[in-house]
Amino acid sequence: MTIQWFPGHMTKARRQIQEKLKLIDAVIELIDARLPLSSRNPMVDEILQGKPRLMLMNKADLADPEVTRQWIAYFKEQGQPAFPVDASTGTGVKEIPGQIKLLLKEKIDKQIAKGMNPRAMRVLIVGIPNVGKSTLINRLAGRNIAETGDRPGVTKGQQWIKVTGGEMELLDTPGILWPKFEDQNVGYRLAVTGAIKEEILNVEDIAFFAIKYFSKYYWDAMSERFDLKERPSDFENPDEIVSVMEAIGRKRGCIVSGGRVDLEKASSIFLRELRAGKLGRYSMESPY
Ligand code: GDP
Repeated sequence: MTIQWFPGHMTKARRQIQEKLKLIDAVIELIDARLPLSSRNPMVDEILQGKPRLMLMNKADLADPEVTRQWIAYFKEQGQPAFPVDASTGTGVKEIPGQIKLLLKEKIDKQIAKGMNPRAMRVLIVGIPNVGKSTLINRLAGRNIAETGDRPGVTKGQQWIKVTGGEMELLDTPGILWPKFEDQNVGYRLAVTGAIKEEILNVEDIAFFAIKYFSKYYWDAMSERFDLKERPSDFENPDEIVSVMEAIGRKRGCIVSGGRVDLEKASSIFLRELRAGKLGRYSMESPY
């Protein structure tokens, strides 16, 4: 599913989230651990209107663990708690209710001091498409929420899901945020990880961007996989990056008449293998 984000859609998405904010105590902002800034909505602070927020870096299983550690330190410096999770296997997920509780401690303590019995903490998950919102909701619910809601004839209103083991309730429909498109590099980073569809950007440009990044930061993994000999000496020289693309194409037999390398085919193969995890864990941006 590709969402084309026109100004009207953004306004609608924003309004939908702001309606939901009235119902909840805290927000989980889901971002992609491989590109924590590029997978954030540029207006998220404004949209969330100061609601207590827990930032979760999802797909941490795919990200470079060292870079993830740097990001956690970076967000901590900014006073924003951030934790790595892997919603697909559930790593880090059972700690979430406790983290939300910590975030709302003051509010809960006040209620207790007033002699009130604190009600369940109500939480909304927000994030850009494909970041793993549905996977996390299902994981927290301990069952498949999406499936029941998608049955034809079942009208799906908003429902509260009780999270196992915690005094936490989750809104079953997440808030969908749009990614920032103005910066072309952001678009490329999102495309490399498969967060946005390839048709939006040219496949050779996406692969060029990724191969340049890997030449700089993950040369060993890439050269081992594709049997590459010559590392570019000047990463800003496009010819040197294209030479790497050609070497990858030759390795994968992407040769057309005259012995030329089919760069489009080489690019598709490279990106497919990258996304399938064949080049190991990687991050596409780092804070320092
Ligand atoms: P949504 O659009 O934000 O609801 O994203 P989905 O929950 O549909 O997830 C998008 C894709 O990412 C799916 O193919 C998921 O299986 C995958 N995914 C979600 N979370 C993780 C994770 O933590 N690790 C990995 N490797 N894949 C994940």
